[in-house]
Amino acid sequence: VSVRQVIAADLTWVNGAFAPDVEVTVAPDGRIEAVGRGGAAVTRRLRGRALLPGFVNAHSHAFQRGLRGHAERFPGGPGTFWTWREAVYQLAERLDAAAFRQSCVQAYREMLDAGITTVGEFHYLHHSARGADHAFDEQVLQAACEAGIRIVLLQAYYATGGIGRRLSGAQERFRVTTPSAYWERMDRLAEAVAAPEQTLGAVVHSLRAAAPDQLAAVHAEAARRGLPFHIHVEEQREEIEDCLAAHGRRPMALLNELLETRDNVTAVHCTHTAPGDMECFLEAGGRVCVCPLTEANLGDGLPDLEAARRAAGRLSLGSDSNVRISFLEEMRWLEYGQRLRTERRGVLVEAGHVARTLLEAATAGGARSLGIATGAIEPGRWADFLTVDLAHPALAGVDADTLAEALVFGAGDEVIGETCVGGRWREKGR
Ligand SMILES: [Zn+2]
Repeated sequence: VSVRQVIAADLTWVNGAFAPDVEVTVAPDGRIEAVGRGGAAVTRRLRGRALLPGFVNAHSHAFQRGLRGHAERFPGGPGTFWTWREAVYQLAERLDAAAFRQSCVQAYREMLDAGITTVGEFHYLHHSARGADHAFDEQVLQAACEAGIRIVLLQAYYATGGIGRRLSGAQERFRVTTPSAYWERMDRLAEAVAAPEQTLGAVVHSLRAAAPDQLAAVHAEAARRGLPFHIHVEEQREEIEDCLAAHGRRPMALLNELLETRDNVTAVHCTHTAPGDMECFLEAGGRVCVCPLTEANLGDGLPDLEAARRAAGRLSLGSDSNVRISFLEEMRWLEYGQRLRTERRGVLVEAGHVARTLLEAATAGGARSLGIATGAIEPGRWADFLTVDLAHPALAGVDADTLAEALVFGAGDEVIGETCVGGRWREKGR
């Protein structure tokens, strides 16, 4: 893109509300330059459309898209997270680089069709069957480029196959066992990323996958480099029991002790996190990513998000296993899960609004978690947008004042139209 664009939709999401007649000027470098009437001629008139910041998917494992439709039969009676994980491991062992890349491209195109313009790819399936070759790392970056989605490659450290256990079987594909090898690889990837649409983040897969001192070392270096840091925390009760047995503390309590700074840290899931541990984590600047559709699919449970609600702006959303890719549904189930848990309505309320909180989690909250300048229609941010078809029957009778709620609670992805990443537009389903 090398021309200045002036975009005008019927309604534009700015400062937590839909406003009419807003003109958004995008500079040739792909950043938003101005928001408001500019006087310049409109170059893209989006009639019958609303313009929103593109959704930011803070947690994805794209290759698990390959399990779509599988792992949903239970010949031996009900399964668990751990029986599902066996299916993931079988998939991981089966994939070669080409099939892995194809799953990523498929997932990323489907994300764009659902209005997701950034993916935080929590990438731990590093190696091919040949050994520790990191053959899959750059496939992720190339797949994102091919699909046209912004990506933060969240490169995962994975050294143990459970607390104090050696890696075994499919876990060999995930192997990164020393912080120095990890950062060497990160330096290589820093050269491979296609800036500005591709950036890096640091990850320790979970407290199951690293010793506490290794976790602290990887995080300290990530903080020194100004990188976001993500980790799976307390998705399953078994992780908490194992951690208590080995370290005498729950995973989140241990994280709170180990990590000096927490404002670059996103804890993914927190399904069984104790309220006191959660408050301590949030007070130090921590963020929480919830993945409602995957957590429901895996039978994880429902997190207590009361403290996260009070720490406004710290929540984000992820499509995780990509069993279904829909951010409208993720938003809806973020609130519905809390309603079912508490037997109340409007649980994630802030100043009377719930849809606003949910849209914030799906956009700016994800951007903060990933450390990128997107997620809002504001000068200086990347021009990442989605459009909504206001003429769709699902939105009949809806006006500017009720559109956010209608989208979140009453519409599916069929209302979502074209997307834009860094000023580059993409037709839906292309
Ligand atoms: Zn995950």
